[in-house]
Amino acid sequence: MDNEEVVSKNFIEQIIEKDLAEGHCKVVKTRFPPEPNGYLHIGHAKSILLNYGLAVKYGGKFNMRFDDTNPTKEKEEFVESIKKDIAWLGADWEDRLFFASDYFPQMYEAAVRLIKKGKAYVCDLSADEIREYRGTLTEPGKNSPYRERSVEENLRLFEEMKAGKYADGEKVLRAKIDMASPNINMRDPVIYRVAHMTHHRTGDEWCIYPMYDFAHPIEDAIEGITHSICTLEFEDHRPLYDWVVIECGYKNTPEESPKQIEFAKLYLTNVITGKRYIKKLVEEGIVDGWDDPRLVSLSALRRRGYTPESIKKFVDLVGVAKANSSVDYAMLEYCIRDDLRLKKSRIMAVLDPIKLVIDNYPEGQVEYLEAPNNMENPELGSRQVAFERELYIEREDFMEEPPKKYYRLFPGNEVRLMNAYFVKCTGCIKDENGNVVEVHCTYDPETKSGSGFEGRKVKGTIHWVPVHHCVKATVKLYENLVDEEKGVYNEDGTMNINPNSLMVIDNCYIEESVKGAKPLDSFQFVRNGFFCVDSKDGAPVSDDEHPVFNRIVSLKSSFKLN
Ligand code: ATP
Ligand code: MG
Repeated sequence: MDNEEVVSKNFIEQIIEKDLAEGHCKVVKTRFPPEPNGYLHIGHAKSILLNYGLAVKYGGKFNMRFDDTNPTKEKEEFVESIKKDIAWLGADWEDRLFFASDYFPQMYEAAVRLIKKGKAYVCDLSADEIREYRGTLTEPGKNSPYRERSVEENLRLFEEMKAGKYADGEKVLRAKIDMASPNINMRDPVIYRVAHMTHHRTGDEWCIYPMYDFAHPIEDAIEGITHSICTLEFEDHRPLYDWVVIECGYKNTPEESPKQIEFAKLYLTNVITGKRYIKKLVEEGIVDGWDDPRLVSLSALRRRGYTPESIKKFVDLVGVAKANSSVDYAMLEYCIRDDLRLKKSRIMAVLDPIKLVIDNYPEGQVEYLEAPNNMENPELGSRQVAFERELYIEREDFMEEPPKKYYRLFPGNEVRLMNAYFVKCTGCIKDENGNVVEVHCTYDPETKSGSGFEGRKVKGTIHWVPVHHCVKATVKLYENLVDEEKGVYNEDGTMNINPNSLMVIDNCYIEESVKGAKPLDSFQFVRNGFFCVDSKDGAPVSDDEHPVFNRIVSLKSSFKLN
């Protein structure tokens, strides 16, 4: 990472420390304010962990608040999933779970106060007209013909809006600020609209709803938020944020007000993060729900086998920046690999099986060999693995006519069977089409792993699974859904989905120690990567007899942390 990033990593902390030192705030209060209109994704994780982390670091408080001011797209289902995801990440809101909709009465009162001060008016222009009157970046706007309505008339009309007298779009309440402001957000923004919609919490109690730019600062002010952290697109909205807090009478000066601080959104290469786009993939059935392991929603990452620790590590590595940029997806993979490396048992699984028969091993005999669970972490102990005459090995670990530097099985060559014996390849059996169907070998009983045998060395070690003592499983391998180099969109505007994003392999064999694994349990399958028991809504996708595993990540990567 370059210097600039390391320095900017702490710019929010610097602001907070200054505010504490100068007495602008005593106890830091942050919040995470999602709109319950979809599932959370990796970008939200950044915001959650940032807000929560700051509260923890400065001994402050972290609030969870649903910004549910727009009933069109919001659902209880999303509220529940968001709570689950945040709890999973370990961000603890204690007893401070809030809903913006709980503040609707206060917001209404605040709007009435504005009207009484002559700072808000009811406007009859249509949405299109309002847009026309607003002007452009280079031209000032024009005043609405309704701008000079009297306070009494405005109070009456606003009351009537609330009482349901008007249809959607017929009237709005606007802040009276400055139609000539260089900042378009300050040109008499709409702060309340009529919408005859049922809200998932307040039902039909309201038919007027506050706009985000009006609601959000009030929510922060009511909760006593000291640092209102949001993403860059709200930078130009900050003057309006401050205006609302002060004009509505929550604070007297910007110094006392919640301080809005903007940081860059987290973008990842070759993935889809926007809620809107994920929703489309889900609705069109391109993916298997919001938790499809190819997505980077938090429920998808969890199903895939990502841990909260790995996500936290990733977010910390990315840091907090003031400029938008995309982070290499490989960095996320690096973080999960690093997190699981010493924590997980390394067991043997064959994904592309071919039978290996040891001709000089007694038929019907089974012996149990000791295998360390993790060579790099002795604390994980060891297990017993059954060994017998017939094994499965990876098809690619045998070649009849090997190229140079191929050290695995080929006629005449000797390799080590991981945790077991040396075997020497004697040949293979083919079907009528010339495909290899069985590999044969002999073993040397003297060479048992762990016996201290030092007679000779072999160059290759391959893994295996005993044919009669294993679990048959389905394994799902993933690639990114999109490839930015190939273009994310097709010419017709549809998404250019990687046809190899999901590969299902039905006849994999895993050593018996995997029996009893529960949803979300994960393992390293030696040489093949990290895998996690697939689950949907916490239930295993298939049974104990035939489990389904997701590959979390392969073992190797080009990504380097420098
Ligand atoms: P999306 O654009 O993916 O639909 P959103 O911004 O509409 O997300 P909200 O529920 O409004 O989602 O966001 C809740 C909080 O998460 C906001 O403070 C928002 O700024 C932050 N957030 C959203 N996306 C990202 C991201 N990619 N990186 C960092 N923070 C994000
Ligand atoms: Mg949003």
